Amino acid sequence: MITFEQVGVQYADATAPTLNGVDLTIPEGELCLLVGPSGSGKSTLLGTVSGLVPHFTGGVLHGRVTVGGRDTREHRPRDLADLVGTVGQDPRAHFVTDAVEDELAYGMESLGLPPDVMRRRVEETLDLLGLADLRRRALTSLSGGQQQRVAIGSVLTVHPRVLVLDEPTSALDPGAAEEVLAVLQRLVHDLGTTVLMAEHRLERVVQYADQVLLLTPGAPPVLGEPAEVMAHS
Ligand code: ADP
Ligand code: ADP
Repeated sequence: MITFEQVGVQYADATAPTLNGVDLTIPEGELCLLVGPSGSGKSTLLGTVSGLVPHFTGGVLHGRVTVGGRDTREHRPRDLADLVGTVGQDPRAHFVTDAVEDELAYGMESLGLPPDVMRRRVEETLDLLGLADLRRRALTSLSGGQQQRVAIGSVLTVHPRVLVLDEPTSALDPGAAEEVLAVLQRLVHDLGTTVLMAEHRLERVVQYADQVLLLTPGAPPVLGEPAEVMAHS
């Protein structure tokens, strides 16, 4: 689903490349956990999938990244919206409206979907994420875990095949983090969505992963089953 062919990223002011010779395939319909120390290039790698690198961050991209067969270099992130959804650490940075239902509809409005399709997808997503009782609530009145579920939902209504998340549970308490991880696991198992998620608090998350991708500065990345990869770290 996601392929990296000899991928490297060089930032202008850096002495060494941030990513170098990344050559691997992330399978469809699995949850892949991206791990590695701070500064190892996790956000950069996620950016090559969403199209942020090279279009917005100023990094020079070598090699080729494809998602669903599309080369991310040839598409700006908004052109990939129906293929790749991106969620960051802070749901509040993601929000563009004030209320739960409006937030779930926003991404579809910018794609120009017909109103009946938008209504149906909002209903499906409220049910899938356990947000139906909160539909008319102000986003500011929600807990952190609820806000992060809304941020994920606002991306899901567009029906992306790949969901990229950069430390989505880092601002959450353990209970709220579990809520979000359970939602991601359901997406993978029920809808076949491919999830690529960076995390640094491993003990909490590794049980949800089908694959682990480990980045280590100065060494090639390792991709494999969780037990196999964790033996390297
Ligand atoms: P991680 O997510 O694993 O912490 P990052 O991808 O954020 O790693 O950063 C990897 C390296 O690339 C760091 O040394 C960081 O300073 C550098 N870097 C990240 N983004 C940029 C940027 N937009 N411009 C210049 N350097 C960057
Ligand atoms: P759902 O599965 O949520 O019911 P679908 O993806 O099957 O929605 O889409 C239903 C209808 O919406 C399609 O038959 C098409 O007419 C319309 N539609 C879907 N995607 C688009 C799009 N990107 N632009 C315009 N119309 C669309």
